[in-house]
Amino acid sequence: MQALVLKEPGGPLHLEEVARPQPGPGEALVRVRACGLGLTLVWNRRGRGFGQGVIRDKFPRIIGHEIAGDVVEVGPQVNAFKPGDRVNVYFYLTCGNCRWCNVGREDLCDNHAGYVGRQIDGGLAEYVTLPERNLCHIPPEMGYVDAAVTADAIATPVHVLRERARVRAPETVLVVGAGGGVGIHMVQMAKVLGARVFAVDLSAEKLALAREQGADEVINSREVGFDEEVRRLTGGRGVDVVVEMVGIADTMRASLNSLGKGGRLVFVGSYDGEAALPLNARALSNELVLTGSRYCSRQELAEAVELVAQGRIRPVVTRICALEEADAVLQSIEAMELPGRACAVVN
Ligand SMILES: [Zn+2]
Repeated sequence: MQALVLKEPGGPLHLEEVARPQPGPGEALVRVRACGLGLTLVWNRRGRGFGQGVIRDKFPRIIGHEIAGDVVEVGPQVNAFKPGDRVNVYFYLTCGNCRWCNVGREDLCDNHAGYVGRQIDGGLAEYVTLPERNLCHIPPEMGYVDAAVTADAIATPVHVLRERARVRAPETVLVVGAGGGVGIHMVQMAKVLGARVFAVDLSAEKLALAREQGADEVINSREVGFDEEVRRLTGGRGVDVVVEMVGIADTMRASLNSLGKGGRLVFVGSYDGEAALPLNARALSNELVLTGSRYCSRQELAEAVELVAQGRIRPVVTRICALEEADAVLQSIEAMELPGRACAVVN
């Protein structure tokens, strides 16, 4: 089969003919139809760790975790899937048996074994073998590109806004980094939950996209300090929720300053793992909640699929490319040039 192979951290990805994998016990062979391209893959390509850094990456590796396709073969002990099933893919490798998996919080699995596309081969190839536990059924009318990006860029906002931030109408939500692949769906999910949405980003193009996808106010943080602008727009009260998708010292400080009483600050992305958390006395006396967020549960993935199937969230895919173009597209994502999500299609 054809695959894009990462031979060493930093890239490039080489298009090569490699052996088609065989499904082992508990695994399925999936014919890949689409694989999303976002910042996580940029970090994977660079070999930069994220999350629990104790798990080492191995090379060569086929990266890519936002996968949709068709089950074509199943190994022994696979019960819930059969050839012909259309699926997308849960990103984390979990045990299914620990106290966190048992209560539907698989993102915190005690026996977390890594990630699709890092510790096992991923989706930038014609075929991939995956644990049955990582597959999620998708409805017949859902396109593969939509299903692929739903697996992370839409499932993540479901977890961030409902499980971590507990957003309820008519609260206000500020999305810092609203024009990117996850941010643009964060805007849509906040609208689904009935919030008034403020979008912050650095380019007019990304902010226009955020406005088009439902943002009530857009703020260009190249032109104005977004915390000051948020205070002005809310009559000095601040917002109920900030979703911080950037995570550098400056944006973290401004994010905290943007929160009103009882506010929740959710850290999703980080460009600077060393940046200090901006905690102060005002934060404590205003009962602010600062929390991280890790991907989503399997239930939330299924819910994201349903939200897209019902048309309540529309995947924003601004660049669709062939497998051989994926490396160049990842480089333009790294340069922050691309609004929305990109996706490779595999025929
Ligand atoms: Zn577990």
